[in-house]
Amino acid sequence: MHIHFRTGPMLINVLPFTSIAFQGAVPFGNTFVTEADDVVRYRREILVHAHKGFNPIMSIMLVNKTTPEIVEESFLAGARVLKWIPGGTSTNSKDGVSLLDMKKYYPVFAKAESLGMIVSVHWEAILNFASGKEIPMLYREEAAIQFFVQLATDFPGLKIVAEHITTKEMVKTVEILYGMGCNVAATITSHHPVLTYSDVCDADGNVINPLNYCLPIAKLDQDRLAIRKAMVSGKPYNFYGGDSAPHPIFWKSLKLLKGKSPRAGIFSAPVEIPQQLETFEKEGALDKFEDFHSVFGPQFYGIPLSQETLTVKKETWRVPYEYEGIPIFRGGEELSWQIA
Ligand SMILES: [Zn+2]
Repeated sequence: MHIHFRTGPMLINVLPFTSIAFQGAVPFGNTFVTEADDVVRYRREILVHAHKGFNPIMSIMLVNKTTPEIVEESFLAGARVLKWIPGGTSTNSKDGVSLLDMKKYYPVFAKAESLGMIVSVHWEAILNFASGKEIPMLYREEAAIQFFVQLATDFPGLKIVAEHITTKEMVKTVEILYGMGCNVAATITSHHPVLTYSDVCDADGNVINPLNYCLPIAKLDQDRLAIRKAMVSGKPYNFYGGDSAPHPIFWKSLKLLKGKSPRAGIFSAPVEIPQQLETFEKEGALDKFEDFHSVFGPQFYGIPLSQETLTVKKETWRVPYEYEGIPIFRGGEELSWQIA
């Protein structure tokens, strides 16, 4: 329920390869999909390159110009998701609405609620709003929780997904809000249950492994364990959203060699299913895999469950380092499950 295919040559490269195991997906176009025309154009671009029968669930991004009218027109053009990435929190997010401006966009959220659209949020605060100082990456998700609680309780009927959650505090928040009757859920990637901050950065906060660098950044071991528990919990508000985000090797590594920060995003789609299966198996919860992977997400979105099946086998394979110049997550490592 969360993937990046990009657009143009990158999409042509990765879409056939990454969509093959899926009947549908929520592809986020971020800044280049902000209104109805973009939805139509991007949907067409995806359908041209995806396998027959593939169902993209389209989104628009909440940007400064977004109005209730734009939301309605986009809905009529096929958008079902309003994606909110507060400015500067992730790749291609500089036009995103600031958390501080949330209330200005209440008419937009009210429109989304009345249409039954999903509001899908990258909950991170970059600045400490009292001091104006930048918040270290480890604490940005936690700092945004107050805004999540406010939005969910002000709009109890609005379907809100906390995307790619990374902290034990966020796991707990989703659980509590759900328990209060709010219409909330969380997506979990396949990489956050296996990575911690030290797999990405050194003690000074410098990125030492650009291939593991994504936003929100992987947190501490206690957070990783909480995410794993949520993933295998069998609770309907925790479901799969891989956030696979391809970048050419240049953006991931060479920039780092030049002293610039690498692009955030992990190209995980080729290994997501085997990797999730490893996690579920280690947690003794293989029986919960199907619900997490294929049932709870579509149920929350209100779309029909896939009638197709996918066969996997327990057989070790080595993940290739790259695909068409795009480094693959866990490249060179062995995984014990594969798609048959
Ligand atoms: Zn994403």
